Amino acid sequence: MKVTDHISQADKPLISFEILPPMKGKGIDSIFKILDPLMEFKPAFVNVTYHRAEQIFKKRTDGSFDRVEIRKRPGTVGICAALMNRYRVDAVPHLICGGFAKEETENALIDLRYLGVDNVLALRGDSPANEKFFTPHPQGHRYAVDLVDQITNMNNGRYLEDDIVDAGKTDFCIGVAGYPEKHFEAANMNLDLHYLQQKIAAGAGYITTQMFFDNAKYFAYVDNCKSANIHVPIIPGLKPITNKRQLSILPSIFHVDIPNEFASEMLQCKTDAACEQLGTEWLIAQCRELLARKVPVLHFYTLGKPQVVYNVVKAIL
Ligand code: FAD
Repeated sequence: MKVTDHISQADKPLISFEILPPMKGKGIDSIFKILDPLMEFKPAFVNVTYHRAEQIFKKRTDGSFDRVEIRKRPGTVGICAALMNRYRVDAVPHLICGGFAKEETENALIDLRYLGVDNVLALRGDSPANEKFFTPHPQGHRYAVDLVDQITNMNNGRYLEDDIVDAGKTDFCIGVAGYPEKHFEAANMNLDLHYLQQKIAAGAGYITTQMFFDNAKYFAYVDNCKSANIHVPIIPGLKPITNKRQLSILPSIFHVDIPNEFASEMLQCKTDAACEQLGTEWLIAQCRELLARKVPVLHFYTLGKPQVVYNVVKAIL
């Protein structure tokens, strides 16, 4: 079932989770270990992230180096199939532009259609760790809007090659990313919203936001989206902060602010358990306010401490 149908048919805010594929070589049991307990909350859907290959240098026996591409977390499509099979839950695979030729994307979408996946979250993807700027694949897309276009074309029965006839239409519900604190590359919020609106005009049906720790930023973003003629559901992305290191790591990786009040309280915590408790309470308070304002879905990033996410959801339902 499509995410947009889940939302339109619900009479109260829904729950969803996001997981990362395991590191290459690890079994899928690590995913089941995270999700088995969380399934108690009957999530409407589970997102599975996609990770582009990174270039690494491997030393040869003669001392010189080979540049090789390694995808550290492969398996997104297969994991979606496994989740749908095990939990009868809708899976939302992320698809990214980075590192993919359009034809590879088309083939992935054909696989997803055969597997009965109804949703995709269409993203540009970040640049690999060793590159400063995003560089598209020579035969790939530069912006998420181009990926949305490609999926919409397939939904209308248009494939890359004109000579593919009667291939049938796909019927994907397309989600896209939004940034309550602005995407870090955008010159200003208005421009970012302008491009977000283009993704909606291209066929995206909903937005999932970057994590935020101050609900006021989300509420202002929803208002700004409306002013920018964006009227699709905006799903808040939520993550617990459970240790002091995250106070600097999360802003530097995700370009988000951490409220001073929260940061200074955490800095005063004397033990790891106290930090975790504070982060749990903060997220519970965020969720309660979001629920009271009737957001469509509470979407939880589970990376790191899924047990904390479990405790938060248990407390709010
Ligand atoms: P875009 O919408 O393409 O925007 C990128 C930048 O370009 C923005 O600054 C925007 O304002 C600007 N822009 C957009 N369109 C145009 C245009 N036509 N002309 C000029 N400028 C334009 N990354 C992964 O690698 N894998 C994942 O699974 C993943 N999941 C994510 C899930 C969520 C909910 C979120 C919020 C992010 C996720 N990311 C993921 C990170 C995301 O890929 C990065 O934030 C990336 O830098 C931007 O992706 P985007 O889809 O928002 O890009």
